[in-house]
Amino acid sequence: MLKIPPKLSIRWIVAIPFIVQIILVVGIVEYLSMGNSQNSINDLSLKLRQEVTRRVQQYLKNYLSTPFVVNGINSNAIESGALDIQDVESAQYYLWKQIQLFESVPNIGFGNEKGDFIAIERQEDGSYISKIVIQSKSKNKNIHRLDNQGQQEEFIKTVLDFDVRRRKWYQANKNSGEATWSNVYAWVSRDQLALNAGVPVYDKEDKFQGVLATDLVLSYISNFLSGLEIGQSGQVFIIEKSGQLIASSTIEQPFIENDGKIKPIQANESSDSLVKTSTEYLISTFGEFDAITTTQNLSFDIDGESQYLQVTPLRGFPGLDWFIVIVVPEKDFMAVIDANRRTTLLLSSFAVVIAAILGILTARWITNPIAVLNLAAKDIAKGDWGQTIRLNRDDEIGELSQSFNQMSKQLEESFLKSEKRVQERTEELAVAKKQAEVANKAKSIFIANMSHELRTPLNAILGFAQLLDRNTTLNSEQKQQVQSINRSGEHLLSLINDILEISKIESGKISFTVSNFDLHSFLNEVYNLFLLKAQKKGLQINFFWLDNLPQYIGTDQGKLRQVLINLLSNAVKFTTTGTVSLRVKFTDNESPIQNNEIPSKGYMLWFEVEDTGPGIAADEINKLFLPFEQTETGRNSGEGTGLGLAISRKFIELMGGEIEIKSIVGIGTCVMFHIPIESCTSEAVISQTSSKKVIALAPDQPVYRILVVEDHAPSRLFLKKLLCLVGFEVNEARNGEEAIACWQTWHPHLILMDMRMPVMDGYETTKRIKSTPKNQETVIIALTASAFKEEKHKILAAGCDDFIPKPFSEAIIWEKIAQHLGVSYIYEEINNEEQLKTTQLDKGTNSTLEKEFTESLSMMSSNWKAQLHDQATQLNRKKVLQLIKQIPNDHCALIEKLTTLVQNYQFEQIAQLTSSSD
Ligand code: ADP
Repeated sequence: MLKIPPKLSIRWIVAIPFIVQIILVVGIVEYLSMGNSQNSINDLSLKLRQEVTRRVQQYLKNYLSTPFVVNGINSNAIESGALDIQDVESAQYYLWKQIQLFESVPNIGFGNEKGDFIAIERQEDGSYISKIVIQSKSKNKNIHRLDNQGQQEEFIKTVLDFDVRRRKWYQANKNSGEATWSNVYAWVSRDQLALNAGVPVYDKEDKFQGVLATDLVLSYISNFLSGLEIGQSGQVFIIEKSGQLIASSTIEQPFIENDGKIKPIQANESSDSLVKTSTEYLISTFGEFDAITTTQNLSFDIDGESQYLQVTPLRGFPGLDWFIVIVVPEKDFMAVIDANRRTTLLLSSFAVVIAAILGILTARWITNPIAVLNLAAKDIAKGDWGQTIRLNRDDEIGELSQSFNQMSKQLEESFLKSEKRVQERTEELAVAKKQAEVANKAKSIFIANMSHELRTPLNAILGFAQLLDRNTTLNSEQKQQVQSINRSGEHLLSLINDILEISKIESGKISFTVSNFDLHSFLNEVYNLFLLKAQKKGLQINFFWLDNLPQYIGTDQGKLRQVLINLLSNAVKFTTTGTVSLRVKFTDNESPIQNNEIPSKGYMLWFEVEDTGPGIAADEINKLFLPFEQTETGRNSGEGTGLGLAISRKFIELMGGEIEIKSIVGIGTCVMFHIPIESCTSEAVISQTSSKKVIALAPDQPVYRILVVEDHAPSRLFLKKLLCLVGFEVNEARNGEEAIACWQTWHPHLILMDMRMPVMDGYETTKRIKSTPKNQETVIIALTASAFKEEKHKILAAGCDDFIPKPFSEAIIWEKIAQHLGVSYIYEEINNEEQLKTTQLDKGTNSTLEKEFTESLSMMSSNWKAQLHDQATQLNRKKVLQLIKQIPNDHCALIEKLTTLVQNYQFEQIAQLTSSSD
């Protein structure tokens, strides 16, 4: 199959076959015309040869029969006595008259048995001479010029002793007894070849009388032949069977002259190459001329050029064995044919060019509208609608363009429709997005509020726990309990943080924060956290690690703690008998981790939390990592939210690790995870965690006034107590308005400003205070419980000098105050390692606050104390608060401590305090 190149334009696909067809047709016509031309040449040349032969035959017939006619007439004249040789004058006149009638006859004569002879000859100049011998008078032949009356006017010469009876021609006729032709002979006096036709004459008794002879000159034949038109260079010649040239159409004479004598030539010796080669060809073909009995049409080559030849034997003239030869070179015809061919070629080329132009124009005519359609379709494909094609045509292409226009219009309409639909949909989506954003913002606000609401009271719990921790009057069990409160509070805080965390995870805001810490202490802490719980349930709790476990490491401590607490909580929660074990392993040959955020030195910690609990069915294991998924056991326990494992997995992944659960129902569960870690030195940990306890302000410093602005009374109280404890002058305000009033009169050096307050919030208050350059001197440190870091920018923008996130540690308060006011403290050094190992408080710490509290309590009546004890043991909040109100206002330490205990539901402590004071 013919393959059309895919890139070939339609224009050429249409035009090329058209042109090829035309070229093929023209080529075939040309080829056929060439063939026909050859046939025509053959035909034409044959006809020409036949025609020439016919004309030559005709001519010879006429020419050669004349002497016999003359002889015949004269024979009759002799018989009738009209021609009597004895009557010389009248015979001379008779023959003179006669010869003038036969223009082609140069000589007429008669000789008899007596030896008499008379002949009249036409001279080349047109005059006549008589040649007469009358034996009775003389044996000589007298030759006279005749005048225009046929009379002898001038004697020319005498030929001595001329006896006609000795002449060959005479004897030949006498011997044959019939009319004969003589051989061609040279007519010496004329330089011509001649031929004699003789007839024997008999008397009535059939007695031989003599011979009548009439001559012919062959030059007449040559003249005739040369007058014939045989193509451009064709020739005709007559050849005798001996090969002697009789006559030819060439300018050449058929004889040669030698010493004044002429001699016939052989045709193959002719100086004319055509005559010569033709004769040679005939001789080589037939050998003898006798062999040619019928007309032969032949062809042969001379120097590579074809020659057409026809040879015809001459019939009807006994004694004359002549052949008429006609030869015509092919090129005589080819000239015309060539001219024709040139014309044909020219016309063909012209036709091809015209056809090509027509083809291209036709192709254009067809393809141009297609190209226009194509362009329009491409534009539509690019989205340029409204393409209309205008073609003034009513044919199929016109119809196609109309259909195209309709189609494009329909497309445009449907496109516009769908565009409109898309636009509507986009608008709907934009609205939905806006709604989602609003909802998201609402969620953020909710989280921020929740954060505030949860963290603020938690801050008080932790704060008071820390204060209690300073209390030297507590016995070691109480100390431990206080520390347990502290740890639980912190755990609670981290739980709250984690709930906030999961919402941050969902919004992609969670991050990985590396800190250096003491892993051993960390594990001890965790152990302590679960020891009591486990013991309560009668479970054994075991933590195992090998000696190679590094003590100081770097990872996200908070997240690791959260994960371990989650897993151990579950283990303890779901196990009723047996053991809960934590195994920790360290490896340092793992391949480095690619994630940049994650420690990548190849150190890895492997954890296994194993229990002897109910186990988890295999088909439930994978679901447990989804938020809010619980197993049957989980749901029945009525505890938990189903968030723990989801958060754990997210955290582990964030730390660069992986988690896996293996469990056998009825045997127990083992949760395994590993995380990459950084190892670090003890210094790095100690410098970070080292905390010096502030005991008091260093001596020789000005008295600094600090205003605590906080709507949450316990928090406010805690701060006030803390600051008073070290020696600051402290004042308090419950909202922004009170703060401004106090600031105007009291001029604090520094304000600790809660940002969320009723009446006037911290932002507004700060703005107002900081509104004049003078007021810039007052340092304002914001206290915020917001879960979001973005809040920091807002706080600083409002004019705050710094901010402390809630819940805060004592240390950060001292550090920030020192940073802004340049104060210095007296510290009590605590060995950090010791602090981590033991939960015991430094016994050297004395608290003025506690002293004040104890003093105030001792001043209260026993009855009041007894009532308070009773109500506290009954957990009657209302009554306890009423009893607190009975305390005189100057015992503020007592009022605040008891109120805080009530608000924190620490009724047990109240009961203890009142019982011990008895
Ligand atoms: P929560 O404990 O708050 O319900 P988790 O995500 O920590 O949420 O656990 C999901 C559920 O997986 C649990 O409710 C419990 O059904 C199952 N589960 C987790 N740990 C254990 C375990 N050690 N033994 C048996 N079941 C467990």
